[in-house]
Amino acid sequence: MSDDCIFCRIVDGEIPSRTVYEDDEVLAFLDANPLSPGHTLVVPKAHHQFLSDLPADLSASVFAAVRELTPRVQRAVDAEAHTIAVNDGPAAGQEVPHLHVHVVPRFEGDGGGPIHAITGDRPDLDDDELDDIADDIRG
Ligand code: AMP
Ligand code: ZN
Repeated sequence: MSDDCIFCRIVDGEIPSRTVYEDDEVLAFLDANPLSPGHTLVVPKAHHQFLSDLPADLSASVFAAVRELTPRVQRAVDAEAHTIAVNDGPAAGQEVPHLHVHVVPRFEGDGGGPIHAITGDRPDLDDDELDDIADDIRG
């Protein structure tokens, strides 16, 4: 629990939320400023900022909840698709420093874009640079 974290305070019941799912490790609630009807946030109850901070079993529990919830959200709002995403750090747009998975229902013609729309100019990387990056990731 982090005292100044709004999602810890929601988990603790200090701040109300429209909870749609709860188990021992995970809570999900409607986003208070939804991008579309049914926009849901899925959070681990324990405070961790980044996906890589989560113990492996907790990340599995979070994504199991995402998997279970997505069709329920879909049925509730008659969605045609979903964008499922994490802003994993402030440079990616994370405003609440408690990991959360956004489940955003999508509709044909909703005016939104694909995940490819999240960055500005794309880098122009040649084959050697792509090979180097792949090598670095593989370690
Ligand atoms: P992010 O930019 O990924 O950190 O997203 C934070 C999300 O939390 C935003 O979509 C907000 O609308 C949402 N949010 C902030 N405060 C609350 C709250 N008290 N209850 C529900 N959602 C919230
Ligand atoms: Zn927190």
